[in-house]
Amino acid sequence: MSFLDNLFSQWSCDMAIDLGTANTLVAIAGEGIVLNEPSVVAIDTEANRVLAVGTEAREMIGRNPGNISVERPLSDGVIADYDVTEAMLSYFINKANPKTRIWQPKPRIVICIPCGVTSVEKRAVFEATIQAGARQAFLIEEPMAAAIGAGLPVEEPTGSMVVDIGGGTTEIAVISLGGIVTSRSLRIAGNEFDESVARHIREVYGLSIGARTAEDIKIAIGSAMPIATGELDMEISGRDLSTNLPRSETIQSEDVREGIKAPLQEVLIAIKETFLETDPDLAADIIRNGVLLTGGGGLLKMLDVFLAKELEVPVYVSDTAFTNVVEGCARALENPAALQRSYTQR
Ligand code: ADP
Ligand code: MG
Repeated sequence: MSFLDNLFSQWSCDMAIDLGTANTLVAIAGEGIVLNEPSVVAIDTEANRVLAVGTEAREMIGRNPGNISVERPLSDGVIADYDVTEAMLSYFINKANPKTRIWQPKPRIVICIPCGVTSVEKRAVFEATIQAGARQAFLIEEPMAAAIGAGLPVEEPTGSMVVDIGGGTTEIAVISLGGIVTSRSLRIAGNEFDESVARHIREVYGLSIGARTAEDIKIAIGSAMPIATGELDMEISGRDLSTNLPRSETIQSEDVREGIKAPLQEVLIAIKETFLETDPDLAADIIRNGVLLTGGGGLLKMLDVFLAKELEVPVYVSDTAFTNVVEGCARALENPAALQRSYTQR
């Protein structure tokens, strides 16, 4: 570290960012999580100006007039709109940065990326982070961050498996000795589940519902298997496809289960394929240690039971599913040696 770097790091804060398709979380070293907002930006398309970011912007979804466009700048875990992502990051970094002095050096930032993204996609996240106000940026693969954040023994010579189901991607990784041994990134996750629920409701009930409603239904009554404590039902409203008028209907957990069958099967297949590629000794470790299920999508009811039954391996849901990645990024910041060694810095 140079003299200047040393001076800067005493003054600036170090920041960890989980840039998710659905939600962005920011943590400050030594302070913990300081920001947790949806990855949404509202733009005035006539003036070409950012109107709102995060929670405030999400409130506008579906209620916006023609000249306001409400966007999710990330899709499938990667940057879909570079300028909007940069604007969003810049807003979040500023909001999270405590202004304790008149002048303050820019923060060092650790930010996560899905595994298996191309070097162009990596570069885009790196550039956006620098442009948005980082002095230095380090990239860390999401499942690695999730594993560190959940307190798995990543540095040990034992295999751990992480399945992180977010909004846009499902990340599956086997980790041992501080590195990712096998991994898979599937562009099927929470959003795809919502779309499948909406499609099923349309086909079975002739009712058209929006993405927000589909997500609410999935979270409230959705399950991967019949719910042990009793099935749930819910009254939903949408537009009747034949009359074009609003109509309500009561649906059951079973309806959601039917709806999400196909994407759920794809997630299961991807996990099985990852197992196939895993060294038998590591697989034996995983059978002993179990599979960690994390990310918001991992909270789907009975998903742990379903996966444990299908994979014949213990599966447990993290009780910090939403925060593991950002906590893991923050933990990586405290370990400069590890940061230099195993995480991409460019
Ligand atoms: P990302 O890392 O992509 O930003 P998150 O880890 O924040 O994603 O998870 C967001 C996804 O989790 C959304 O698709 C949301 O619908 C889903 N989700 C959140 N809570 C639940 C729940 N209780 N059951 C099922 N899915 C959930
Ligand atoms: Mg995530």
